[in-house]
Amino acid sequence: MSRSLPSRSELGREILARAAALARHSDSATNYTRTYLTPAHQAAARDIARWMREAGMEVRVDAVGSVIGRYAANDAGARTLLMGSHFDSVRNGGRYDGVLGILVPIACVAELNARGERLPCAIEVAAFADEEGARFQTSFLASRAMLGRLDPAVLERRDAQGVALRDAMIVAGLDPARIAEAAIDTSRLGAYVEVHIEQGPVLLDEGHALGVVTSIAGGTRHTLTVRGESGHAGTVPMPRRHDALAAAAEMVLAIEKRCAAGGSLVGTVGMLEVKDGTGNVIPGEVRFSADIRAGDDATREAAEADAFAACESIAKRRGVTLERTRTHHVHAVPCAPWLQDALARAIEAIDAPRPRNEVRRLPSGAGHDAMILAEATEVGMLFVRCGAGGVSHNPAETVDAEDAGAAAQALLTLLALLAKKGSGSFLARAEKGT
Ligand SMILES: [Zn+2]
Repeated sequence: MSRSLPSRSELGREILARAAALARHSDSATNYTRTYLTPAHQAAARDIARWMREAGMEVRVDAVGSVIGRYAANDAGARTLLMGSHFDSVRNGGRYDGVLGILVPIACVAELNARGERLPCAIEVAAFADEEGARFQTSFLASRAMLGRLDPAVLERRDAQGVALRDAMIVAGLDPARIAEAAIDTSRLGAYVEVHIEQGPVLLDEGHALGVVTSIAGGTRHTLTVRGESGHAGTVPMPRRHDALAAAAEMVLAIEKRCAAGGSLVGTVGMLEVKDGTGNVIPGEVRFSADIRAGDDATREAAEADAFAACESIAKRRGVTLERTRTHHVHAVPCAPWLQDALARAIEAIDAPRPRNEVRRLPSGAGHDAMILAEATEVGMLFVRCGAGGVSHNPAETVDAEDAGAAAQALLTLLALLAKKGSGSFLARAEKGT
């Protein structure tokens, strides 16, 4: 690459300006909410498609509404390096979550295009239409569809207004009968790289602009139902009670205690419901959720076993019953070591802020499209520091222009590294065509 890297501030300002432009496409007049297939969502898709075209990419919209730009390789038989993230948001969310992972690679392709440079691999940038699933409770819908792993039963899901996903697709000009056509030929994929805001305070607290993700935490969600005995709040003596809520309260604390063991392990009870709860009745039935995650499956499984055994013994001691159903399960996904190393070399090369000249490697506690893509190819993730204490899924979410620019420089450097013959298994395998 003869031309020097464009300046960090220049790249960063452009990326942030586009994030601000996308933020104007919101379902809500008062906050940032962009959910699957709403008019705001479709307007955002049109902007993204336009920027991809301006960056020299051929653009298609797939069968579930994801926008995919392609920048061809210098060799027609080459494999594809896929990059991307999602452009839907949670309700009242932040403007960088997902969007940054679309805008940064578009900026990189624009730069390659300006140089008239093609790589030995094709580049595709995927703007996934639905990852958060805020409208239809459909996490990772778009990346699952890309791998041909979307359960058609989701078409029957309804949003809060009672609109079926199937009908929302038709209104948006998509054909629900053709969702299977979103599936790509995964044998052409060389790797998937996702840029994402960290959504946590680690890089900010330690002074790193960028970080390399080591693994994406796996997690499970459970619904626990405690059944005791309801009774009159004034007449049943305390020793005779089987209070389902008091038992559940102890269980919540037991889960919290076990999941506070350290490392990447976290546990959350986010929902608790007292059936027919009222002020003068001893609670007879309580239902609550438990969400447990860790960077590796063994750690999480051990914590689950301990935490739920503690819940069982609390139930026994209190004379209540406990029923548990697992409602969600994803395995932890390790990022490919060669991609981690290549990203680390790229961060070193651009001299982004990093204390003690170290490259920070860290697990991702949140789920990302990369988890789904990992079922088909090797994945790498680059984290960008967020400001404001590291908050995300929150309107206060913020990213510095310099850091966004550093992410684009790092990604451009990664592309240059991958383009060097024999630089990694990615191209080695592409050349063999296996
Ligand atoms: Zn995200």
